[in-house]
Amino acid sequence: MSDRIFNFSAGPAVLPEPVLKQAQQDLWNLDGSGVGILEHSHRGKAFTKVIEEAEADCRAIADIPSKYRVLFLQGGASLQFAMVPMNLLNKHATADYIVTGAWSKKAVEEAQLFGQVHTAGSSKPTNFDRIPAPGELKYSARPAYVHFTSNNTIFGTQWKSEPDVPVGVPLICDASSDIFSRPIDMSKYGIIYAGAQKNLGPSGAVLVIIRNDLLKSVREDIPTMMRYSIHAENNSLYNTPNTFGIYVMGQSFKWIKQLGGLQAMAERNEAKAKVIYDCIDNSDFFKGTAQPESRSLMNLCFRAPSEELEAKFLTEAKAAGFDGLKGHRSVGGMRASTYNALLPEACERLADFMKDFERANR
Ligand code: PMP
Repeated sequence: MSDRIFNFSAGPAVLPEPVLKQAQQDLWNLDGSGVGILEHSHRGKAFTKVIEEAEADCRAIADIPSKYRVLFLQGGASLQFAMVPMNLLNKHATADYIVTGAWSKKAVEEAQLFGQVHTAGSSKPTNFDRIPAPGELKYSARPAYVHFTSNNTIFGTQWKSEPDVPVGVPLICDASSDIFSRPIDMSKYGIIYAGAQKNLGPSGAVLVIIRNDLLKSVREDIPTMMRYSIHAENNSLYNTPNTFGIYVMGQSFKWIKQLGGLQAMAERNEAKAKVIYDCIDNSDFFKGTAQPESRSLMNLCFRAPSEELEAKFLTEAKAAGFDGLKGHRSVGGMRASTYNALLPEACERLADFMKDFERANR
């Protein structure tokens, strides 16, 4: 009998059980070295193996071409909001941002510190309940790059495919809440970054996949630690990296590989989300907050007929062993985050609970 409950938290979020079990062992004694992962030097042989394998497995699962670097950095996705414009923008240039939620807005605010920002599209008028259609996107004359958020954690919307951008303009993606949940066509991207704490590992760690030609900063006056080039030249070991974060990300990559890679992950995630969306769609009690064609397969947001019923739902769900279901205050209601590691069984059980709750409270 497991002492763990179903964790639907938006992040930090559930991690794969085999990863946690391996980490328990390796905290004590990594690979027979007699020293735990937290205690190994980042320059020693044992950790060198950890980071090299993490990179190799990351490249293998996402099929990352050699013209991209894989960097393991710190500061979470929020520091990437600043590092991207710090490295790629200056005050005479314009970057285009597609604003689909609170995290895109934060990314815009950072970019405005370094250069001009043009909003190429936004779903703000309908409280970010959808992804803009291709025809709505209006780019500036010569954007330094286009930035978008592939999955909107708070509003529960997700791009089904990348926005088309003008030829030669780098596409930059905050993929914090759907990285490696489905196959990625890297050739479409200049940079993909993701805070680790949803699909990959501990918070604070961030994965950055960057095309070589973007490594060189357009500015000379930025701090050393903020430069992509420095981290690339030093193989993510310019300073003492988050060794444990890199270790856990590496274990998550291995777990994804074992489960059959990103295509298998996508099928599993689609099936998981379908169980809950079907339950919402077949109900006149629960109502999804995102427009159906924009719905996220990672963060499933829904409401009950009243705030009182929502409070009751959350209390009873918690008592029944479902945690982390409270929606963000800007949307209200419930949010079930169904990241890679969440077991299909968790979604099936939640759907059953929803049906029972509807029957009892209709
Ligand atoms: N982008 C997205 C899409 C997120 O969901 C989050 C965190 N929930 C962030 C960025 C910020 O990440 P961090 O807290 O790691 O800076």
